[in-house]
Amino acid sequence: MDRHPAQIEPAARHAVPTEFLNFIDGCQVPASGGATVEVIDPSTGEVFTRIQRSGAAEIDDAVRAAQRAFHGAWGKLTATERGRLLSRLAAAILEHQDELSELECRDTGKPMVQARNDIAACARYFEYYGGAADKLHGETIPYAAGTTVLAVRVPHGVTGHIIPWNYPAQIYGRSVAAALAAGNCCVVKPAEDACLTSLRVSQIALDVGFPAGAINVVCGLGSEAGAALSAHPGIAHISFTGSTATGALVAEAAARRHVPVTLELGGKSPQIVFADADMEQAIPTIVNAIIQSAGQTCTAGSRVLIERSAFDAVMARLTERFDALVVGRGQDDRDLGPVINHRQRQKIMGMVDAALADGVKLAARGRLADGAPANGCYVLPTLLAEVDPAHAIAREEIFGPVLVAIAFDDEAQAIEIANGTDYGLTAGVWTRDGARQLRMAHAIEAGQVFVNNYGAGGGIELPFGGMKHSGYGREKAFEGMRGFTTIKTIAIKHG
Ligand code: NAP
Ligand code: MG
Repeated sequence: MDRHPAQIEPAARHAVPTEFLNFIDGCQVPASGGATVEVIDPSTGEVFTRIQRSGAAEIDDAVRAAQRAFHGAWGKLTATERGRLLSRLAAAILEHQDELSELECRDTGKPMVQARNDIAACARYFEYYGGAADKLHGETIPYAAGTTVLAVRVPHGVTGHIIPWNYPAQIYGRSVAAALAAGNCCVVKPAEDACLTSLRVSQIALDVGFPAGAINVVCGLGSEAGAALSAHPGIAHISFTGSTATGALVAEAAARRHVPVTLELGGKSPQIVFADADMEQAIPTIVNAIIQSAGQTCTAGSRVLIERSAFDAVMARLTERFDALVVGRGQDDRDLGPVINHRQRQKIMGMVDAALADGVKLAARGRLADGAPANGCYVLPTLLAEVDPAHAIAREEIFGPVLVAIAFDDEAQAIEIANGTDYGLTAGVWTRDGARQLRMAHAIEAGQVFVNNYGAGGGIELPFGGMKHSGYGREKAFEGMRGFTTIKTIAIKHG
């Protein structure tokens, strides 16, 4: 018997349209060629709707609409008025939380509880940046006699937002809300696998009073619509979240046009557990940080580094937890849902199988819920032990519910292993020793270090971004909004 009852039966769902159109200049618009892309529910493997297969023409229409809004209705708003609109959208997203959560759950396979959290987080981004919009100040600078110098923060203009499929609503909120608060207009290219909440929230924005063209969403394939967005001469800044390889392509396209990019490219984040840690806190947090969104979280804690004297005890507790985990349909709210598509499933399983063939030990594996659809994209949560830190499984991003356990002997070795990958996004440190907490936090190469807690995907108020191959630029917090501005220096000689 499975432990959790189904929470949403199909009959209780909001109806999903059979096709979603692009959202350009405040209108629902089909792709000019009439081509569409099937949208799969990862829980069942079945097609449940379609999106537009757009390209350069639709991107161009969207950029022009955004430029008109930037020089027109949106550009004329004061910062306070922009903030009020963002706050209104935050409230409207929460009013639509049931509908949007069901859409996100269907589109990504996430358990409903997580989908609801993601929609609440999306609303929270608009709330946060709504409050921040009129608090972004410039500076005055002491300079030559009789001269006043102003460093004024100005928006870039039209910003491009390339969004992945793992947290579609959250990452839309993170980047679009910050860009709008700073005064930009947006063209969004969501991932082909998960466009629906971006489209729906943008329509809701229009409904609550955003001017047409302030937000535009163009769906399609990355190699077509995404590449066209990165290369469009009207895009003044691009924020990209996704793989290191695609991030490099986007940055290359931007470099040719000399425009700035923010890249958020994932990680191989360590959870470092010392023997003196509070295990009651550490163990559930460590498990949650790798099963959340089925391990498809850029900040997933995908390596657990355990002090050797506590290794067996910690592994026993982790094993017990992993053995009890159940994977099932998003709407059934099991411990975790499917991964996004069969290609990702095969990639993850291929990496795990290769590691097992190389002698890595399978410590524990969860199970599939009774009655889970046979064609769903399910990956069983997997705990691997006796992993050599130099092995690919301990160094490469898996982007699935796979945790690798590595033993260390002392602080110096823990730091060496923690910093021993190309990535540097986040890290968790678990110890009661205050001096060690600070030593570790300073020594770890990562954009965020959590001590005795771990914020996978959370923390709207906390500056966020990578070191090394995890990317550059910062999102979230005030820092995220600053990134969507540039400084104009005005020097006035008045005698
Ligand atoms: P990806 O190619 O980096 O996709 C991310 C976004 O970029 C999507 O919107 C995608 O659109 C778009 N895109 C793809 N090719 C593009 C191009 N040439 N120019 C501009 N945009 C383009 O990621 P993926 O292939 O879906 O996943 C591969 C791996 O990336 C995963 O296994 C995981 O390791 C990593 N990943 C990391 C994150 C993260 O949060 N850090 C998120 C997702 C994936 P389409 O999806 O429509 O092609
Ligand atoms: Mg989908």
